[in-house]
Amino acid sequence: MSIDELLTEEEITLREKVQDFVKWVPRGLLLDMDADKIKYPMEFIREAGKRNLLGLRFDKKWGGLGLPWSSEIVALEEVGLLGTSLGCLYSLFSIVGEAIHVFGTEEQKQRFLIPMLKGEIGVAEGLTEPRGGSDFFAATTKATRKSNMFYLNGQKRFVVGAEGAGLLLVYAKVEGIDDPKKAMTAFLVERSSPGIKIEHVYGLMGTRGGGTGRLVFNDAAVPVENVLGGESGIGTGTSVFHQMMVPERLTSAGAAVGMARGSFEVAARYADKRKAFGRKIRAFEAVSAKISESLTLLDASRAINHLAAKTANAPVPAGQIRQMVSEAKKFSTKSAWKIVNLAMQIMGGIGYTNIYPIEKMLRDIRLITIWTGTNEIMDLVIQHEFYKEFLSKDMKSRNIEYDAEGANLPDEKIYNDEE
Ligand SMILES: Cc1cc2nc3c(=O)[nH]c(=O)nc-3n(C[C@H](O)[C@H](O)[C@H](O)COP(=O)(O)OP(=O)(O)OC[C@H]3O[C@@H](n4cnc5c(N)ncnc54)[C@H](O)[C@@H]3O)c2cc1C
Repeated sequence: MSIDELLTEEEITLREKVQDFVKWVPRGLLLDMDADKIKYPMEFIREAGKRNLLGLRFDKKWGGLGLPWSSEIVALEEVGLLGTSLGCLYSLFSIVGEAIHVFGTEEQKQRFLIPMLKGEIGVAEGLTEPRGGSDFFAATTKATRKSNMFYLNGQKRFVVGAEGAGLLLVYAKVEGIDDPKKAMTAFLVERSSPGIKIEHVYGLMGTRGGGTGRLVFNDAAVPVENVLGGESGIGTGTSVFHQMMVPERLTSAGAAVGMARGSFEVAARYADKRKAFGRKIRAFEAVSAKISESLTLLDASRAINHLAAKTANAPVPAGQIRQMVSEAKKFSTKSAWKIVNLAMQIMGGIGYTNIYPIEKMLRDIRLITIWTGTNEIMDLVIQHEFYKEFLSKDMKSRNIEYDAEGANLPDEKIYNDEE
């Protein structure tokens, strides 16, 4: 049984549409992006919008397709074949779109979500700051209110689309509110607003061509109507952040499978053609074991991603969704890194050259274990959410602790918990 048995007919058709779109992407665009000749590939976004492939989960009313998460996972695997940069630019519509779809006012959905999903404006998100990304609530960007305007001061770094996106979703703390979680607010900032400057565009190991930069806000004026959710959205940034972390991490998990699959398939074909010692190299156990290991990891990643996708759409506590999504992000990105490395090893020296795309994918993929929350942060979330639920529930199944021969010797069960 392959993962296809779990998909609906609609999802198989969607996959074909996404495959057509992914095949449309000119090879020259990929090469120019990797050569840093492109600042922001707006043509890619326009084409995705034209084909109605952006924001698949959002209501048809706003230009989405009203599909479940499992469908987006199917689409992401195909988009992942294009590498991290285009995968990210595609996913940003799901991430920023989620924030606007769930928390935005009707007017904000009209003004921003509709043109976004048509591929008319590019989007970016500013969470990370120079002083730290993992510790999100330590962010120091401030928003000061004067009448009906907020003035943003601070910096955001590593913003993909810093150079080319027309709309930025930026988090800042509203001055005058002491509790950082209550002060955190999401702003829809138009790139053309005065007071926004790019101070640095980063030279990256991979994931190039998206214009990843550091943005400086110097009294950047944002009207109150651009607070996500309007006046009542002030101070709701913590909820927005938690909601956005679902697409943030699930898109990384979904696209990781595509990146790994693409590299694996190149290596699998090579192993069937290349000969050494008079035999196809795939006849050697050390090579065929790498093929088997990669296939197993690919299917395990698909399975965990689909489980996380089902959980994300289920009426379950938010903590359960956070746990599953974090497990999927950690497992799929870690597996993808391993699979691309195995692909390079299978190919020998030529895999390290630009004759094949494995070296580019390896450079790209290194990032996905780091961004959208590092995999160390995923570990923190996973165990935290597990304990919260585990310790609060009565066990329904057999507790094997009491099956041990010495189970009823309390003097031997010492926990050092006395005061
Ligand atoms: C190319 C690129 C594109 C990016 N795109 C965006 C974007 O578009 N928008 C955006 O907002 N951000 C973006 N990021 C930022 C990215 O999400 C952060 O880099 C990431 O979350 C880590 O934050 P940091 O770099 O500040 O590392 P730090 O938070 O300084 O972490 C450094 C190390 O310490 C570890 N660490 C930190 N805290 C803990 C802890 N409590 N327990 C265990 N280990 C810990 C981390 O795992 C890591 O290994 C991008 C980054 C890159 C490189």
